[in-house]
Amino acid sequence: MAERLARIHGTEEDKVNCPFYFKIGACRHGDRCSRVHNHPAFSPTILIKHIYRHPVREAELRALASGQDQKTVSIDQEKANEDFLVFFEDMFMELSKFGRIEFLSVCDNLGDHIIGHVYCKFEDEDSAADALNVMNGRYYDGKKMEVEFSPVIDFREARCRDFDEGGCARGGFCNFMHIKYVPIPLIRSLEEDSEYERMREQDERRRDRDRDKRKRRRSSRDRDRKRHRRDRSYSYSSDESSRSRGRSHSRSRSYSRSASPSSRQDVQG
Ligand SMILES: [Zn+2]
Ligand SMILES: [Zn+2]
Repeated sequence: MAERLARIHGTEEDKVNCPFYFKIGACRHGDRCSRVHNHPAFSPTILIKHIYRHPVREAELRALASGQDQKTVSIDQEKANEDFLVFFEDMFMELSKFGRIEFLSVCDNLGDHIIGHVYCKFEDEDSAADALNVMNGRYYDGKKMEVEFSPVIDFREARCRDFDEGGCARGGFCNFMHIKYVPIPLIRSLEEDSEYERMREQDERRRDRDRDKRKRRRSSRDRDRKRHRRDRSYSYSSDESSRSRGRSHSRSRSYSRSASPSSRQDVQG
């Protein structure tokens, strides 16, 4: 029984769980769906809802605002594609701050439940959780980001094969992901850039850590020196004391508990 349930989970056979939500992370029935949408508590994949400004929707909005007929509004495809690549670069670099990206997909679909969706699958769940915590509720391009964990792990199951092969008869209203095409060389160069950024940040963190360590060592050395000096009966001015450290070694034989004010200054400086 349990085995059968596991096998049919999220398929058409499954009468309890919604196959669309399970596979695509978005279902056109939304909260009114008759089947269950199991929102994961953790996932390596996050969904940023409706964040990409789809050129078709933007043109419709512009037409609406200027009282034009929505059907007459034309879209400059070249500009739309340029805008998309800039958007993709932005998203990639922003998201890669949280960890290595395994897959970043931007939907070209037009259905209200999926339009402008961006899915990002990280190498691990921790990176996804960090990204969600930081990005959710922030603004991007004037839009508040609504971020959630997504059940989508295998994008082969989520994407529309017809669209990938050059033509889906259902067009923008297909329920499977129409993943916008991004040239591979662009992805490679973004991966390189983000890797470089990560290394740089790691170096910086290491340098900060080393500096803190040195600081701690220095202050413990200062404490030792102070103790040492307290043990001596001689008093030096702060300059002299550092210069004559070597010399004074042989002299530090008489033990006295009197701390000189100058040594205290020395510690602070
Ligand atoms: Zn559903
Ligand atoms: Zn399709």
